[in-house]
Amino acid sequence: MGWLFGDRNTAEPHRYAQTNGDIVSARVIQGDLFESLIPMLISSGYRVVAPTLDEGAIVYDVIDDAADLPIGWTDEQGPASYRSYDRGDDVYFGYSVGPRSLRAFLSPPHLTLLTITRGDTDLAFASDEHEGRAYAFVGVRACDLAALAIQDKVLVESRFVDAAYTSARSRSLVIAVNCSVAGATCFCASMGTGPRCSSGYDLVVTELVRGDAHEFVVESGTDAGADILGALGSREASPSDITDAADVSLATERAISTSMPDVDTYTLLTDNLEHSIWEDIAQRCLSCTNCTLVCPTCFCSTISDFTDLAGKATRTKSWDSCFSLDFSNLHGHPVRTSSSSRYRQWITHKLAYWYDQFGSSGCVGCGRCITWCPVGIDITEEIQRLDSEAQEVPV
Ligand code: SF4
Ligand code: SF4
Repeated sequence: MGWLFGDRNTAEPHRYAQTNGDIVSARVIQGDLFESLIPMLISSGYRVVAPTLDEGAIVYDVIDDAADLPIGWTDEQGPASYRSYDRGDDVYFGYSVGPRSLRAFLSPPHLTLLTITRGDTDLAFASDEHEGRAYAFVGVRACDLAALAIQDKVLVESRFVDAAYTSARSRSLVIAVNCSVAGATCFCASMGTGPRCSSGYDLVVTELVRGDAHEFVVESGTDAGADILGALGSREASPSDITDAADVSLATERAISTSMPDVDTYTLLTDNLEHSIWEDIAQRCLSCTNCTLVCPTCFCSTISDFTDLAGKATRTKSWDSCFSLDFSNLHGHPVRTSSSSRYRQWITHKLAYWYDQFGSSGCVGCGRCITWCPVGIDITEEIQRLDSEAQEVPV
């Protein structure tokens, strides 16, 4: 199957333009952009995944129409709290990230890798139901672009390639959005990942509402993005359009109230593996796994084989979590039996050992683990507390 926009039938990683965040050239499209863009993507063979309202939360899901976008909705987030409500306008992207990230589509929670069916004379093999899907991800935020780049590094560019992810990712199209709203748990600015998108997109839009005028400033980051832009009616952005779009990102950055402390998290964590803070956190942590399930960079999975009496065997891959007891089962016993050791494992992997493995932090500052932790454990606060307590001189 050939895709309309760029060559998406290749396992080659995408080549995205890398910017320093400044808008160099852009086009402007009227506020009804998504009413024409989404049918265009669907008719080109893409499954469009975009924010939509589902059971009270704004989540990425497959949509069929621009009307499925949560137009006029917003959210309010905090540690262990989330609420969405109608903000009473026609803004398309006036909210921050919800609990579901793009890995739910590129690396689904449950995936059948292989089925083997016994026939009269031989065995029939079928592999990978994921193969061949082409997703157009619409409304992707800067933190989620950074998470995609991390997942690419882990699942495509490392020694052990995830074939299903690589296949789906190589066909994917990314239409990003520069955030105009900062959630109370967002800390992308301190992680250097947002709120402005600097790479990893085919197109990026900034939503501008100026009086009665509702427009999008659109920049392309790949040839595929430029193809799409060329197929839509647009005008060249004026200097004031570009200034206003840059101001949206500046205002969002200024509104971010949470930050990762400016400390060397690698040294702080690895020097304090026996600190009493881990026991203190374990008094609150439920080992529920929520923080890992909402995290856009987590990638751990487990493989299970099943057989039935009719002669069919199935191999599946499911998300796993370092908070589950079985996760560290070695030679018949889990080696991380306490909640304290499991939380410590999670945070030291994200903010320390990830640098050894993949050359970057494993956290992009999306804040999901803070919002969706049922007891409101905040990764930034725990680092702040560890830093303060580690500096206290014992008397
Ligand atoms: S650790 Fe938390 S804030 Fe960091 S990327 Fe994962 S969910 Fe987002
Ligand atoms: S830190 Fe919070 S979300 Fe993560 S396992 Fe513990 S209770 Fe669950």
